[in-house]
Amino acid sequence: MTKKVFYEDTKIVDFTGTVVECTADDKKKGYWVVLDQTAFFPEEGGQSADKGTLGGQEVLDVQIKNDIISHLVKVPFEGGSTIEGHVDYERRFDFMQQHSGEHIISGLLHTHYGFTNVGFHLSEREVTLDMDGVISLENLREIEAMANRIIWQNLPVYATFPSKENLATMQYRSKIEIEGDVRIVEIPGVDTCACCAPHVASTGEIGLLKVLKVQSHRGGVRITIACGGRALKDYSSKIDICDEVGTKLSVPEERILTALEKVQNDFATLKYTANELTGQLLAEQVKSLPAPSECANALLFVALNNNLAIRNTVNTLTESYPGYCGIFAGNEETGYTYIIGSKEKDCREMAAILREKLSAKGGGTAPMIQGNVTATKENIKNIFNAL
Ligand SMILES: [Zn+2]
Repeated sequence: MTKKVFYEDTKIVDFTGTVVECTADDKKKGYWVVLDQTAFFPEEGGQSADKGTLGGQEVLDVQIKNDIISHLVKVPFEGGSTIEGHVDYERRFDFMQQHSGEHIISGLLHTHYGFTNVGFHLSEREVTLDMDGVISLENLREIEAMANRIIWQNLPVYATFPSKENLATMQYRSKIEIEGDVRIVEIPGVDTCACCAPHVASTGEIGLLKVLKVQSHRGGVRITIACGGRALKDYSSKIDICDEVGTKLSVPEERILTALEKVQNDFATLKYTANELTGQLLAEQVKSLPAPSECANALLFVALNNNLAIRNTVNTLTESYPGYCGIFAGNEETGYTYIIGSKEKDCREMAAILREKLSAKGGGTAPMIQGNVTATKENIKNIFNAL
């Protein structure tokens, strides 16, 4: 059994340990080192392992099995030798802020809604907790406010190993039958929970707790939170985004939404106008086509690419022309996007010909195909004339 220095004091990050065992792991291309004691918290209970160095080497992973903690390193250490370890405290403290914050919010959801935490994940990237009940974001905001009041009260966070007798009389979350001593983390009056991880000494160290997201998950909800430094970072990045959007819209932050709605309305109006004008332009070009009695196919080249207007015109053309009705938008240099329709012909056959003769891309159904092609007007015309 490895002596866990992080249970004595979470702030001890420099320590020395004696190598009890060092085993090669070919798959991981490294060595698992067991020490008599360690300050490294292993991957456990949904939380990623601590990072840092052992004997100056980077610790790549830390695992626990049967109360024995193993550290993965690249180079072996001799059994019986004494080595120095160093845990990355900035990362440890960040994890403690997140984990203690999670206990507060899970505790409050348990007390006020009777929910049980059924999943927890804490990594460098995110903190999520899964609850077995459904709660709205509005109600969660009330819980968030309560959690922050608890943080500002700077309540102590106790971690103890109660005797079997005391434990039997205690009310706590995360009650599962486990071998050996059960570690209880308690925030008086707020939450009592069985937990193996390092925690802050008092709630004030969490600083701030922010709910970032709540989504449906397996009949309950998955809540994403950020605490302390992470919440601050998230706040900063959101201010940067607001600033950037405000600058682009030329309005102060509080008018971003109104300005955005105006942009959306203006865009819809412009899009409608563009469709109408392109439609009129296409109608003018249609007048220059030979009559259906002279030529069964209709072929037009246009500079503007307006999918809706082009599609509508193709549909109109198929009412009078029995052959293939195609509109190619673009130019010979950068290529054309095309829509071809027909009431009587199978357009998929046309798609096959365009693919074969002009290496065109695209496809669709018998009444209509669309795609793109880089070819000369002459070559496209020749294909239409030959059909
Ligand atoms: Zn915990």
